[in-house]
Amino acid sequence: MEDCLFCKIAAGEIPSNKVYEDDEVLAFRDISPKAPTHILIIPKKHIARLADADEADAVLLAKIQILAKLLAEAEGIAASGYRVVTNSGEDSGQEVQHLHYHLLGGKKLGDIC
Ligand code: AMP
Ligand code: ZN
Repeated sequence: MEDCLFCKIAAGEIPSNKVYEDDEVLAFRDISPKAPTHILIIPKKHIARLADADEADAVLLAKIQILAKLLAEAEGIAASGYRVVTNSGEDSGQEVQHLHYHLLGGKKLGDIC
């Protein structure tokens, strides 16, 4: 999709600090990390937000969740704990309108949710 930052990152048109990539998904480090580990996991196909996903995306979204678990293990935060979160829509504070999951860990996280 034109003018989508994360589509451009997925296409390699804008550089990112990649930690995992395959045909369907990309994981890269957040440019402004909120925790020692702060990785963003995105589908390469453009879905604006979780609210726009549908049943046909179920396997893709499950794959992202399992990837989050595997990356947490690779980052060494599986035992201490971590959070996987996605913002969807205005009240969530979503800034980038391409579905992404934050993997956060390496410190005590706040107590919201
Ligand atoms: P959200 O508020 O859920 O939309 O989160 C968007 C996230 O994208 C924020 O944590 C930003 O720091 C991050 N971000 C924005 N631009 C980039 C970029 N070029 N590379 C990596 N992360 C980015
Ligand atoms: Zn996009």
